[in-house]
Amino acid sequence: MFGRAPKKSDNTKYYEILGVPKNASQDDLKKAYRKAAIKNHPDKGGDPEKFKELAQAYEVLSDPEKREIYDQYGEDALKEGMGAGGGAHDPFDIFQSFFGGNPFGGSGSSRGRRQRRGEDVIHPLKVSLEDLYNGTSKKLSLSRNIICTKCKGKGSKSGASVKCPGCQGSGMKVSIRHLGPSMIQQMQHPCNECKGTGETINDKDRCPQCKGEKVVQEKKVLEVHVEKGMQNGQRITFPGEADEAPDTITGDIVFVLQQKEHPKFKRKGDDLFFEHTLSLMEALCGFQFILTHLDGRQLLIKSHPGEVVKPDQFKAINDEGMPMYQRAFMKGKLYIHFTVEFPDSLNPDQCKALEAVLPPRSSGQLSDMELDECEETTLHDVNIEEEMRRKQAQQAQEAYDEDEDMHGGAQRVQCAQQ
Ligand SMILES: [Zn+2]
Ligand SMILES: [Zn+2]
Repeated sequence: MFGRAPKKSDNTKYYEILGVPKNASQDDLKKAYRKAAIKNHPDKGGDPEKFKELAQAYEVLSDPEKREIYDQYGEDALKEGMGAGGGAHDPFDIFQSFFGGNPFGGSGSSRGRRQRRGEDVIHPLKVSLEDLYNGTSKKLSLSRNIICTKCKGKGSKSGASVKCPGCQGSGMKVSIRHLGPSMIQQMQHPCNECKGTGETINDKDRCPQCKGEKVVQEKKVLEVHVEKGMQNGQRITFPGEADEAPDTITGDIVFVLQQKEHPKFKRKGDDLFFEHTLSLMEALCGFQFILTHLDGRQLLIKSHPGEVVKPDQFKAINDEGMPMYQRAFMKGKLYIHFTVEFPDSLNPDQCKALEAVLPPRSSGQLSDMELDECEETTLHDVNIEEEMRRKQAQQAQEAYDEDEDMHGGAQRVQCAQQ
C-alpha cells in the first residue's frame, strides 16, 4: 500500500502507552484513555510529554481507518500517509471532545469556556378554525442574528483578540467596598468594557462585516406547518433557529397557535358545536337546512319524519367534528344546538286551527262554578333580569339608609360638608 515492508516492532507502542491489548475494543480504548488522561493532565501536575503521547495514541487507535494502517504498517506509515505535520492535533482538543469542555476550569482560556444556551424566541401565531381543521402552512419572515461568516464570530480580521484591559481577560471585575475600619466587602460583576467576554478587539482589526459585533442580522423565511387537529395553544418548535451568538447553543423559535373565534362553530377538544335556530313550525313539523362545513363541504341536515325538536335540544353527527391531531382520519362529533323561535302572537283563527291538531290543554276545561269562585288577575310582560337587578339595588340603598340613621344627625352633616 505504501510501498514499504512492514516493520513489526513499531505497531504496538500506542497500545502500550494506553495499556490495552492489541485486540482492545473501542470501548476499552476510550476507558483506558480517559483514565490515563485524567491522571496525566498537566493541570493536575502530570507530565505534558506523556499527556501528548497518550492523546496521539488515542487519536490513532480511536479512528478505525488509522488503526488499521497502524496495525499493518506502524507509526511511520501513518505520518507519511497523512502528509507533513499530519495528525499533529492539539492533545487538548481531543481531551475536550471527550469531556465536552475543560473539567479543570482554566478561566481566561477561550477553549475551555462552557457553552451557555441561548434564549428561545416565542411568537404567537394566529390561525382560524378552518386552518386547524384543514391544516395549512404559513410562511413567516423573521430576522435574527447569525454568527458573522467573514470572521466566524471572532469579530476581528486577524482572529486575534486582545485581553480586555479592564478585567485582564477574566471577564469579571471585583469592586471593594469598605464597610468599616477593618471590614471590606468584595463584589464580583461582569466587566462592562468587554461585556464579560474577557476580550477586546483593536479598532483597526475590527471585522468590516459585523464591525466587531461577531454577529450580523439575517432575514429568514420559516414555513410553519399547521397540522390538522392542532389545538389552540399548541407549540410548533424550530430547534436552533433563534439568535446565534458566539460560544452559545442557539435557542429555538417557538410558535404558539392562537385560534381566532369562529362566527359559527365553537370547538371543544375534538368536537364542534354549531348553533341553529328553528321556527316553531320547523320544530314541530320538521326541517332541513344546509350547513357549510369548515372545509367548504355542504352538509344536508334534516329531521326524522314526525319528530319534534324542543328548545335547547342538542343533536350530534358522528365523525363531522375536528380531525384528531396526528390521526386526522378520526374525527370527533359535530353537535348542533337548537333554539326555537316562537311567534309573538296568534289570531283566533290560527288558535282554532292549532287546537284542532295539538294535544289538549294540560289544565283541562274549567267549569263555570270553579270560575265563579276565582278572582281575576292580569299578567304583565316583564324583563325579569332587570327587575331583579333593580330590587337588589333598592335593598342595598335601604340597608345604607338604616346604617346612616344609627349614626345620627351629626354624622350626616359631616358627610354633607365633604
Ligand atoms: Zn465579522
Ligand atoms: Zn473586560
